[in-house]
Amino acid sequence: MLLQDERSSAPSPALTSAETMEATRRRKQHRVNGAGSDPVQKSAQWGRAWEVDWFSLIGVISLLCFAPFIVFYFVMACDQYQCSITQPLVELYQGETTFLTIWARAPSFSWSAAQIYAAWVSFQVFLYVCVPDVVHKFLPCYVGGVQGGALTPAGEHHLLLYLFNHLVCSIYCVCFCLLPPGLINKYEINGLQSWLITHALWFANARYLHWFSPTIIFDNWIPLLWCTNILGYAVSSFAFIKAYLFPTNPEDCKFTGNVFYNYMMGIEFNPRIGKWFDFKLFFNGRPGIVAWTLINLSYMAKQEELYGHVTNSMILVNVLQGIYVLDFFWNEAWYLKTIDICHDHFGWYLGWGDCVWLPYLYTLQGLYLVYHPVQLSDTHALTILVLGLVGYYIFRSTNHQKDLFRRTEGSCSIWGRKPSFIECSYRSADGGVHRSKLLTSGFWGVARHFNYTGDLMGSLAYCAACGFGHILPYFYIIYMSILLVHRCVRDEHRCSSKYGKDWKRYTDTVPYRLIPGLF
Ligand code: NDP
Repeated sequence: MLLQDERSSAPSPALTSAETMEATRRRKQHRVNGAGSDPVQKSAQWGRAWEVDWFSLIGVISLLCFAPFIVFYFVMACDQYQCSITQPLVELYQGETTFLTIWARAPSFSWSAAQIYAAWVSFQVFLYVCVPDVVHKFLPCYVGGVQGGALTPAGEHHLLLYLFNHLVCSIYCVCFCLLPPGLINKYEINGLQSWLITHALWFANARYLHWFSPTIIFDNWIPLLWCTNILGYAVSSFAFIKAYLFPTNPEDCKFTGNVFYNYMMGIEFNPRIGKWFDFKLFFNGRPGIVAWTLINLSYMAKQEELYGHVTNSMILVNVLQGIYVLDFFWNEAWYLKTIDICHDHFGWYLGWGDCVWLPYLYTLQGLYLVYHPVQLSDTHALTILVLGLVGYYIFRSTNHQKDLFRRTEGSCSIWGRKPSFIECSYRSADGGVHRSKLLTSGFWGVARHFNYTGDLMGSLAYCAACGFGHILPYFYIIYMSILLVHRCVRDEHRCSSKYGKDWKRYTDTVPYRLIPGLF
């Protein structure tokens, strides 16, 4: 598999210079991902593959063609069918309506929506690029400002250059500080600041300025969908072309030879414009996640406008999702070390996904509650609040325990005692043997991915806040379950390849993935 790739990719006299470059890229990529290369272990990596099978290709093409229609379908179902996702299908089946009729009834592109969206994205770009973080100077414990990400393949290249140059410089007594460091990408972590400024302005407008209605997002929801799609496809296409013509780091590119797969899964690992505009960090966090809480606020304002009051279910959705979003920005520096930033390339699935999928489908609960203002009983509301908060606590604590354990190399306290762990080793492709530790205390002793379990409990709470009238608001928990179970399986496959028999010892000690006793 990839290990064989690795071996077979050694440059041979028959290879062209492009192939040699590609082979070099593959070796570097492999080394940095640090996958095991023990003779009996297979190598597995995150991110996209080097070769594409027919099954993946069909999946990729289907997603490229149909994903925008899936999003449209959900939003249209609310707009035209009171959030019933079966009714349009029934009417289509019985011949009572046609695709064309549904399409004709949907609000079309409007220049006013385009202006709103252009202003929104420009404002977020401005906050991201032009306003360096000051929040970390005032908030104790918050990590903001310039922070380092993960070592990239290009970073490794620079590291070798740096060491080589350092040696040369020492010999010739020249200052090595002049040489390119570039080991690890630097990021300006100012997401929390952007979120705070954006929301302060939103409230200032709603309360004092009255420049626009707080229902503006809901009122333009479908016209805005066309704008988000235009940006999603534009940024993915730009990233695709950029990877061929002027990549930020040619060492970071991954090509499969299949144009659709390259387009969807991305070629460049860390595309940037200038020093600070990092595509992955910008599109992952803003405009989608900053918008998430604003979209919910707009739904809340619409509920009040339509019915004269806001239901407790709407407040619950706003509060629980607000905590999740704030947590994301509070931990933005930590996020640089997660799979999304460390292993995924920037393509359509991130570019389009962050512009369209996330803001439209992660906010379906609030949209549903505009059409169905559910007022929950106190017991029901309290149960959901507890479920959401406990889920959040598990999600955050589990992530924190691993982070603390890895940062202190085990010299910490978890649940009041010294943590237990399994010592493991793995071998990188350059033959070096490395040591690592797998935590078996705290939530990491309960299940191997209890952070995902907490995330799923929180997701279920948002959906359950909408009552049991329709399936549409439950799309989120269904989607998150598929996403996180798949992610868990992929991660375990990679860890098993990396740690071999040590991973087996770990899975014997902590036998369940997500739910103790079940899975
Ligand atoms: P994790 O934070 O769970 O990291 C997995 C990695 O941690 C493994 O590859 C391994 O890496 C290391 N590891 C595994 N087991 C142990 C252990 N016992 N002790 C120490 N290290 C271990 O994965 P993600 O980056 O996927 O998730 C981060 C968070 O983001 C999660 O809470 C998840 O719920 C959330 N998330 C949310 C999404 C959303 O759309 N809302 C989408 C995706 C994630 P190594 O090679 O270093 O050993």
